[in-house]
Amino acid sequence: MFIDSHAHLTSKQFDDDRDEAVQRALDAGVEYIINPGTDVEDSKRALSEKHTNVYACVGFHPHDAKKADDRSLQEIEELSNHHKVVAIGEIGLDFHYDFSPRDMQEAVFKAQIQIAQRRNLPIVIHTRESIQETVALVEEAIAQQPLWRNQFVTQHSRYPAPKGVFHCFSGDAALAWKVVNMGFYVSLPGVVTFKNAGLAAEVASNVSVEHLLLETDSPYLAPAPHRGKRNEPANIPLIASKIAELQNLTVEDTARATNYSAFKLFGIGEVGSP
Ligand SMILES: [Zn+2]
Repeated sequence: MFIDSHAHLTSKQFDDDRDEAVQRALDAGVEYIINPGTDVEDSKRALSEKHTNVYACVGFHPHDAKKADDRSLQEIEELSNHHKVVAIGEIGLDFHYDFSPRDMQEAVFKAQIQIAQRRNLPIVIHTRESIQETVALVEEAIAQQPLWRNQFVTQHSRYPAPKGVFHCFSGDAALAWKVVNMGFYVSLPGVVTFKNAGLAAEVASNVSVEHLLLETDSPYLAPAPHRGKRNEPANIPLIASKIAELQNLTVEDTARATNYSAFKLFGIGEVGSP
């Protein structure tokens, strides 16, 4: 079985077949799906999603940072008390599109890390052409709240407590190890299956599987051979088998390792799950 750690089932691209998409995921062995929010309304939609195997994150995407104010950020914090919420996200910086002014993106990102720290929740990070700035802000926030998530640190672990995931990771292997050493997982989407996978393939073969999560980022970034089409969680096995190949592992072991990490980070599933 697999976990899709990042799928926007609430997006309108699923309005005609949301239930069927969840069922196709289950049929493909994708037992749990994490649905990040992009603003207050989308976060509420994620929470009201009726399938018990679909969990939610609440937050303002950097694209939507310009819509955030004190009141709506407080609303995000209130929503984060809902039992379906497993993280604050997706939050971060996007300097590729710059749909929101950069200073607003940074202020809203910081405010949402603070929400996560007050609630002791992990964060789901989006970063595009902004990885250095993102890492700097996260490091600063960790320094300010060193106890954040600290009860989840494993005794004798070489790594800090799991604090979140850099989703759709687009940096190189050295940067991936940097965020791993800060207590973050690295998640690679269908890009890793492309012929020109570039850095995604470098990261998938260099960073050990215990630090990786699987994600589709549906409805975007469909893996080969569905590239260019709408993506959906049922495509996770295609991504898992490519990562398995690059890791020299079986698909089963890749699934086991990444599931364990997702369970640990998000606290999902039943007690005693693998
Ligand atoms: Zn996303």
